[in-house]
Amino acid sequence: MNEFDDFIQTQKDEMTALLKDLVEIPSVMGETSDGEPFGKDCFAALELITDAAEKLGFRTFIRDGYYAVADCVPEGCDDIKLGILCHLDVVPAGDGWSYEPFKCTEKDGKLYGRGTMDDKGPAVSALYAVYAVKQNAVRLKHGVRLIFGTNEENGSADLEYYSTHDTMPPLVFTPDAEYPVINGEKGMVRTTYTSDFPKGEIVSIHGGQVINAVPSAACAVIKGLSKEAVIGCSEKLDNSCLYAIDEDNGTVKIECHGKSAHASLPDSGINAITGLLELLCSLPLDDFTQQEVLKKILRIYPHGKTNGEALGAKMQDSHGALTSVLSLIHTENGKIVFSTDTRFPLSSTKEEIFDKFSRAIMDSGIEITGYIGSQPHYTDENSELIKALLSVYELRTGKKSRPITIGGGTYVHEIDGGVAFGAERSGTDYHIHGADEFIPIDELLDNAAMFAQAILEICG
Ligand SMILES: [Zn+2]
Repeated sequence: MNEFDDFIQTQKDEMTALLKDLVEIPSVMGETSDGEPFGKDCFAALELITDAAEKLGFRTFIRDGYYAVADCVPEGCDDIKLGILCHLDVVPAGDGWSYEPFKCTEKDGKLYGRGTMDDKGPAVSALYAVYAVKQNAVRLKHGVRLIFGTNEENGSADLEYYSTHDTMPPLVFTPDAEYPVINGEKGMVRTTYTSDFPKGEIVSIHGGQVINAVPSAACAVIKGLSKEAVIGCSEKLDNSCLYAIDEDNGTVKIECHGKSAHASLPDSGINAITGLLELLCSLPLDDFTQQEVLKKILRIYPHGKTNGEALGAKMQDSHGALTSVLSLIHTENGKIVFSTDTRFPLSSTKEEIFDKFSRAIMDSGIEITGYIGSQPHYTDENSELIKALLSVYELRTGKKSRPITIGGGTYVHEIDGGVAFGAERSGTDYHIHGADEFIPIDELLDNAAMFAQAILEICG
């Protein structure tokens, strides 16, 4: 404990109130309109945080609706040395919640709601960390800039905009991942595939909500079979999925439920799309043509397998293994379209992965119709920023630590020399991108004190 912990304790009510207000804004990416590039709710979140930051005495602005900035600069100094980067957009709620996803519910010392941990809670901690430093009359030699973005979950176009409109401080950390410090991030490839899918007894297939999560739900409409026949087939499957099967206007509607998880940690999820395809492939349909297409998809994305082996892309280095998830699917106009999210280790490149995927679907009738990728990110572990953050972490936790590599691209993936610092602690599953996401209140406070000490270490 230090002076920051004591001060942060006195701010507990204000911090939880601000987080509750932020969670109540369902800041999932929405329709672009004038001055609101990521939709009205993302913009509302920017207005809320700038109001709060102004009340705490910071200089703020919102840049064209893309992101908000709050600066804390010592008098007579315009040198901003440290940036802390958080995001206020969230992924959709998804299924399976025990609480209202867009109401912040307090229970047993935890705050439940979408964004409490990713990344609205850490954003509140960062704001109050700077406030704690300011209020404790600590003389800083250099300024701190808080940057609140609103497009982290959908490609970080906010930071691309930042790179051409504002100057990034030389040292940047983002509390949008985990402790101790993440200096290595796997590369990522997102691929969309298309295949012919002729008309037949399978009328439609839809599954998944976002590309960067294991899908928790998928559904299909079929004709020509009774509800009982479909239920009979579903009972023969043993794949951890739950099926809801119902008659609907002369057709049978099949819903498949799995478990969502972040695409970088797919083993903790259950893929509802591949679970649905398994059932569709097992049905006694008259014409096999459609099932042949689905079997080809299952051949490269077998249910329950996420290591890319079936794509010929299985690999592992000292920084981790490749993972690949089929996360979105739909049928339209005689085609079936599906998208996948792959994270690959530091020793490979996006070009190499693309080559492997292309080879895996050769002559299958499936084509790659969309592709984006990013190379792995690495910051030297001897950098000033990493040394400072690790020393603060070790001092507060008593744990001797080294920087780590993860599969999720963090918010600093495209920022040279950037690292992630918190706010998840290993051993806890905060259900990020899943149902019942939460942050413990004592961690909300502890993170603020941790960041305050880091600011002092770097800018003091
Ligand atoms: Zn995040």
